[in-house]
Amino acid sequence: MAEQIESALVLHSGGQDSTTCLFWALKHFKKVRTLCITYGQRHAKEVEIAQKIAEKAGVPFQLLDANVISQLAENSLTNHQMAMDKEKPDNSYPNTFVPGRNLFFLTFAAVIARSHSIRNIVTGVSQADYSGYPDCRDTFIRSANVSLNLAMDEQFIIHTPLMWLSKADTWALADELGVFDLVKNETLTCYNGIIAEGCGQCPSCLLRKKGLDEYLGARYTVQGARK
Ligand code: ZN
Repeated sequence: MAEQIESALVLHSGGQDSTTCLFWALKHFKKVRTLCITYGQRHAKEVEIAQKIAEKAGVPFQLLDANVISQLAENSLTNHQMAMDKEKPDNSYPNTFVPGRNLFFLTFAAVIARSHSIRNIVTGVSQADYSGYPDCRDTFIRSANVSLNLAMDEQFIIHTPLMWLSKADTWALADELGVFDLVKNETLTCYNGIIAEGCGQCPSCLLRKKGLDEYLGARYTVQGARK
């Protein structure tokens, strides 16, 4: 059972948040592997980037095609004809919201983790400083954790090291983990598929830049990032 305690599966997309989580996991667990899930989102380049980062981190990379998610409902990440909402419309979610995504992701991750006798699952969702997607909330993650444990009679632990961190805090965490430059120069967060600083226009780039400026304005260390 010792191995179970020391191994973790990281949901990794090649973006700022999940890459920071990957290096967080490498600090806390002896063995780490990544799972990159595609679901018909705009940029195949994300996969290439995720794979490259996993190689750099020296961990196994697994790709899962979950394109079925794009067949369930319309959203602007998988429907390439749809213009992306720049802001949250009143009384609903922006069309970048992919309903059920994190529930699917965590379920896939848990099944795969189980097959490798891994019980720790790491995901970069954050309730703070985010677009307010319901499946990024802490209560959802806790509930999913309980459900997955009951579904498979396992004792998974879902770790969300970024849950209460702002974007600036996430930069601080990357710096603390010694991967500030890697995260800054080699990750892809931009909705328009441009690596590093990105297009500078999309909501994701704006959020990333705002956090970076804030962090660089007052470099600090993050204490007590939740395990
Ligand atoms: Zn962008």
